[in-house]
Amino acid sequence: MNSTSQDVVVLGAGVIGVTTAYYLAREGHRVTVIDRQPGPGLETSFANGSQLAGNGAGPWSTPNVPGDLWKWLGREDAPLLLRLRAIPGLWRWGPQFLRNCTAERWRENARAITSLALLSLAELKAVTGDHAIEYDALQRGILVVHRSQESLDRAAAGLAASNALGMRKVALDREAVVATEASLQPIEQEIAGGIYSPDDETGDCLKFTQALAAIAEQSGVRFLYGAEIGRLRAEGNRITAINVSGSEIRGDYYVMCLGSDSMRIARSLGLRLPIYPVKGYSATVSVAGWNGAPTASLVDEKRKMGFSRLGDRLRMAGTAEFAGFDRRLNTARGGMLISALVEMFPSFPADREAVHWTGLRPMTPDGRPLLGQAGPENLLINSGHGTLGWTLACGSARVIADLLAKRTPPVAAEAFSPLRPQ
Ligand SMILES: Cc1cc2nc3c(=O)[nH]c(=O)nc-3n(C[C@H](O)[C@H](O)[C@H](O)COP(=O)(O)OP(=O)(O)OC[C@H]3O[C@@H](n4cnc5c(N)ncnc54)[C@H](O)[C@@H]3O)c2cc1C
Repeated sequence: MNSTSQDVVVLGAGVIGVTTAYYLAREGHRVTVIDRQPGPGLETSFANGSQLAGNGAGPWSTPNVPGDLWKWLGREDAPLLLRLRAIPGLWRWGPQFLRNCTAERWRENARAITSLALLSLAELKAVTGDHAIEYDALQRGILVVHRSQESLDRAAAGLAASNALGMRKVALDREAVVATEASLQPIEQEIAGGIYSPDDETGDCLKFTQALAAIAEQSGVRFLYGAEIGRLRAEGNRITAINVSGSEIRGDYYVMCLGSDSMRIARSLGLRLPIYPVKGYSATVSVAGWNGAPTASLVDEKRKMGFSRLGDRLRMAGTAEFAGFDRRLNTARGGMLISALVEMFPSFPADREAVHWTGLRPMTPDGRPLLGQAGPENLLINSGHGTLGWTLACGSARVIADLLAKRTPPVAAEAFSPLRPQ
């Protein structure tokens, strides 16, 4: 690859595509971004959990998951729901995911993801230092609330190991939990304690994506919206054009940031990316006039749901459903978020309307994103960020910009190679 100014086509304008375009334009490349939506950030980056969880960046493939999956199979209210009709589509990804559910592989994956997540938070700070971006940012850490002593003890026992991976987390007793988040006082007696990551943050991913897209556009990035990407055409070992809504677009390099759809579009090149769309839900409510609303960012360990304060809104997010590309809103699963909210904050005003949403997390079996060249020599992948795309966006864009410039990125890029064995 050449470090001089190139024509780069970025496929996708979610948080990953937009940060990539911004970083590449900053390097002096001529960048075009293509997306089928009418604007940036309108698919999985639209209403996610908002947590910038640099210190909680473990993959989902823990040793407990195989047992939990079996226990929860077919249960509509399970945090992780595997639909029977999804099983045929998981014949390759599923066993790869299960292979990663050992303590040793979890540690190895968590170490790699944490290195990228911490880089990403530092990069985000630099970007927001350079530009005044309003995205409901909150720097108050993330507090995981444990109801049972058993789950708190288990989490506390793993603290030293997590901190050895580069995370910074501390255990809090019940009093310290309530001192950190006073809105939990009404359920104080139901809480055993918490695990707190003081350096983590929250913010609205959509607002950030839209604002950064506007900054990138002002600096010369061309955005083509309402444009459906079809086949990528390759000759020899290079992509020569991409088919976009019936016409062709060409560049020197192509960076694929299509979230879960990366897997489908890469197939047109015979490239098999290990990404599966894992559906999640969020619900957002106004907190105007509600005095008992939380002020920080929390996770309910029992329900595996996050609560994030975004200015005068509160967003709940969570649940995982293996159901292919089905984005439909299942009211029972959306309702689980509201039940969790009422259980955690009994003073929630019952007449308040919630805005429900679903998105497809682009998950890899080992939880690490796919970053780097794959297939044709002028194709880079920046996809597969799963549960952590907002957290990992700026760091991933930095890695892609470094790889295109033939610089060594600050994290070990081989750990994210799209071609690594899963
Ligand atoms: C419920 C939920 C909660 C989450 N919570 C958090 C959280 O708290 N913290 C965190 O860090 N992460 C979280 N995530 C994960 C995060 O939202 C994703 O990892 C991230 O949004 C992925 O970004 P992306 O740009 O790769 O994908 P997307 O945002 O989906 O962007 C891909 C873009 O590609 C475009 N596209 C796809 N195919 C085509 C095509 N054929 N032609 C043209 N355009 C195309 C789409 O329109 C889209 O705009 C959560 C996800 C969910 C679902």
